[in-house]
Amino acid sequence: MKYFSTRGSPDLLTFSEVVLIGLSKDGGLFIPQTIPNLPSDWKTAWLNHSFTSLALEIFSLYIPDNEIPRNDLESLINKSYSTFRESDITPLKKIKENFYILELFHGPTFAFKDVALQFLGNLFEYLLGKKNLESLEKKNSNKKERITILGATSGDTGSAAIYGLRNKKDISVFILHPRGKVSPVQEAQMTTVLDKNVHNLAVEGTFDDCQDIVKMLFSDNQFNQKHNLGAINSINWARILAQIVYYFHSYFQLFSSLNILPNSPEANNIKLQYCVPTGNFGDILAGYYAKHMGLPIENLLVATNSNDILDRFFKTGRYEKIVKIVNDGEGNGVGGHTVYETLSPAMDISISSNFERLLWYLAYESIDTKSGEERMNLAGSIVKKWMEDVKSKQCLTVEKTQLELALRDFKSDKISDQETMETIRRYYVPQDSRSQISYVLDPHTAVGVAASDKQKIPSNMYQICLSTAHPAKFSAAVEESLKSYNEFKFQEILPKEFVGLLEKEKRCVYIEKADPEMVKKAIESELEKEFI
Ligand SMILES: *Cc1c(COP(=O)(O)O)cnc(C)c1O
Repeated sequence: MKYFSTRGSPDLLTFSEVVLIGLSKDGGLFIPQTIPNLPSDWKTAWLNHSFTSLALEIFSLYIPDNEIPRNDLESLINKSYSTFRESDITPLKKIKENFYILELFHGPTFAFKDVALQFLGNLFEYLLGKKNLESLEKKNSNKKERITILGATSGDTGSAAIYGLRNKKDISVFILHPRGKVSPVQEAQMTTVLDKNVHNLAVEGTFDDCQDIVKMLFSDNQFNQKHNLGAINSINWARILAQIVYYFHSYFQLFSSLNILPNSPEANNIKLQYCVPTGNFGDILAGYYAKHMGLPIENLLVATNSNDILDRFFKTGRYEKIVKIVNDGEGNGVGGHTVYETLSPAMDISISSNFERLLWYLAYESIDTKSGEERMNLAGSIVKKWMEDVKSKQCLTVEKTQLELALRDFKSDKISDQETMETIRRYYVPQDSRSQISYVLDPHTAVGVAASDKQKIPSNMYQICLSTAHPAKFSAAVEESLKSYNEFKFQEILPKEFVGLLEKEKRCVYIEKADPEMVKKAIESELEKEFI
């Protein structure tokens, strides 16, 4: 299995290369040469597999044994998921008839990104260690390869990356966040990690300023080569791969709770819909891969907040940034692009970085006349053109047949803050307590659940909503939604890990201006201290 870029560059890369490089030279994202098929007996052979055993089987389909031998892969997986608090890793909870919540927040930072980043951290360390060992054996270099991970965060990615990379050999990690603009819990989760290789930079500015600085440092060839910069953002293929596992795991959990064997005739009558609160399209894209590998999923429901670029795409075939007409001060309306601030901040995006991967498949499947290689090249050039349109016109439009292809797998809806809060209340106090349990949703999960409840569902359909964060992580929205219920005590849902978190010792470098030169200086001085 090799990987190639969505924008048509002819290079084929190995799994290890795409993990370490992240983004292709031509600006595209890496995808596997083919989507592997499942073994014909998977429904029985994998029936009683734990999360980690399923991960081993699924990863093996994408990672050749000569790159990571099965034994090594197994220990990487076991190490990665030993940090989760639940033995099931991602437990499935029944809330009401035909309706389940898949809890993805039992990792170290209480949000779903841990599922991928715990694995990615160990994978980085393993691949670097292997490279260093090889060059030592060949004696062709005595220079040890190190990597400096650099990223910007508005909250969730940064903390999950820090917990994934803390104390890893040959890796330093620098995370920029806008000072005072991430939630207190997120800020504390990042800055109270005192491992020597972890560096937080609090930048006076916005998230976009942080993101721009990171991009500038990546394109600064001299700085980049000197420090061997690496990225950990949501376009890394290994993150998508790791997320495929919980679609399979929840499928088996569902059938086990229904007491039906997945390979029985009865199972064929059951339809399954996954509903995913979506921002950068990483979480739900893993569901697309699961479906195309052969997991019987009827629909993937994309749920967005008011930042609805994806919902509008699935309704119109146009992928267009939100344009807000602003007054230029002289009475003229001028077009500007905007991101709305919502109660589900981890989904506040203007474009979805992983969407390009789906676009490649839509382009590829819509071409039916050409041979394999020609067809792949053509798909790459279509995607390249689309991404140029996004850059120059802030918009791309697919053909009707391509939109129809997308609608074979996806549905979509958008949810307002108002609906998010109503949904949190509705699930805290069920209408009918005999058929529904009381459950505290975080605002991101509530977006998904709200979208799911608005669907017309046939009676043989089961719904699984992915829960992407623990409600205590986004406490303000939850407390605001439930403030009229005296019996709701926030303390009761507060995990013990959060108690006293805000008072713990912190380490963070303050950057008084959003200036790339200042950030560069801070990085070099921190690196010097790290190696004393
Ligand atoms: C990152 C995140 C999301 C969005 O996931 P994508 O893969 O970007 O679509 C949703 N909820 C929470 C809590 C997140 O941290």
